[in-house]
Amino acid sequence: MTWQRRLEEADKRYIWHPFTQMTDYQGMEPVIIEQGEGSYLIDIHGRRYLDGVSSLWVSVHGHRRGEIDQAIIEQLGKISHSTLLGLSNPPAIELAKQLVEITPAGLERVFYSDNGSTGCEIALKMAFQYWQHRGARNKTRFISFKNAYHGDTLGAVSVGGIDLFHEAFRPLLFPVLQAEAPYCYRCSLGLTWPACGMACLGSLERIMKEHHEEVAALIIEPLVQGAAGMITQPPGFLPGVRELCTQYGVLMIADEVAVGFGRTGRMFACDHEGVRPDVMVLAKGITGGYLPLAATLTTEEVYGAFLGEYHEFKTFFHGHTYTGNPLACAAALANLEVFARNKTLEHLAPKIDLLALRLERFKGLPAVGEVRQCGFMTGVELVADKETKDLFPLQEKMGIRVILEARKRGLIIRPLGDVIVIMPPLSISEGELEEVVEIIYQSIKTVIAS
Ligand SMILES: *Cc1c(COP(=O)(O)O)cnc(C)c1O
Repeated sequence: MTWQRRLEEADKRYIWHPFTQMTDYQGMEPVIIEQGEGSYLIDIHGRRYLDGVSSLWVSVHGHRRGEIDQAIIEQLGKISHSTLLGLSNPPAIELAKQLVEITPAGLERVFYSDNGSTGCEIALKMAFQYWQHRGARNKTRFISFKNAYHGDTLGAVSVGGIDLFHEAFRPLLFPVLQAEAPYCYRCSLGLTWPACGMACLGSLERIMKEHHEEVAALIIEPLVQGAAGMITQPPGFLPGVRELCTQYGVLMIADEVAVGFGRTGRMFACDHEGVRPDVMVLAKGITGGYLPLAATLTTEEVYGAFLGEYHEFKTFFHGHTYTGNPLACAAALANLEVFARNKTLEHLAPKIDLLALRLERFKGLPAVGEVRQCGFMTGVELVADKETKDLFPLQEKMGIRVILEARKRGLIIRPLGDVIVIMPPLSISEGELEEVVEIIYQSIKTVIAS
């Protein structure tokens, strides 16, 4: 037996893969990635694939980026981990300072954790306890949006709105107030933008008006609801949400786990419309896709409410073992350095335009219902009937068939149901980007024809 074969068998024998129907997985040839290089993933057979979804939305400057590799190696020469519970470390300090500098004004304090879900849990608990300390004991509830995704831990699932992922756990969750979210292609109010005047904001306003005295915070994915299928919000929606939060005394939590670090074309999605949230959650791209790290940032106002005498128990009783890990923070610092030194966002702008141009052609394909793009976040929604917008039957597994077709052609992507996601590393070259789009176009065409 070859060493490759041995690994493939051991993979199927021992690993339970996340978000994967293992019955299907057992019947497939596993792809085992051994190496990476720039925009490419390389498997144990030496086959090269373009990384079309940035290794699940994390890789920013590509794989084996010299500056980030080097920063981690240098940190390894000092220490790999020490706790942030009552102690500190240089990379965590320097990173906190830089995050405060680059995020929207008003965010002044950084609380670390190690993934997007915990980053959101922290935001929720922080907002909840803030109002308790302020004496507003009734402000215990949260507003979230239809189709929202904030992670897989139970608090994050409670504020989630994707029935497929979340419904099974409903008995374990706390109830939330759910507002309409814009999904203009399938507007739940049956309206059309911009003639609708963003009536979905009206639904939020009604909830705020009725319940604001019991609401601690609202949580939103700014500009794009990623996991729901790259659903983009019309301009004006995010500032409208900010305005309502301010008017009704509700903290605004911006979950920038997916959209942060350049994915939308600006460093943060909130930057596009000058929105200043009260709490911001960062993860995924924060280390350039190298190591698990998250940061929850908040204002001096929220932070200040937790100050007091030891015996008052105003302490924020939350923390994870690997919080503020020096290796991860060193990678994050190097990630920011590459952004600045290479003018990553400047170089990204023409690539975003190129992507938009190449996506035009998709609209002519029979099964393409809508193409949504916000910067480098793209979703191609497949439908059985363009007129009625009817979905394909689940048994057809259209999304999965398209990505398997793309795999044969040397591209790794992962769908969200029947939405094909394109989300390459920001560092991808124009030539590689053209190849990604072409492979997806041909793959969709092939699957529709069969
Ligand atoms: C991925 C994601 C999360 C969860 O992050 P994990 O690191 O997977 O726990 C939370 N919010 C948004 C918007 C995400 O896309």
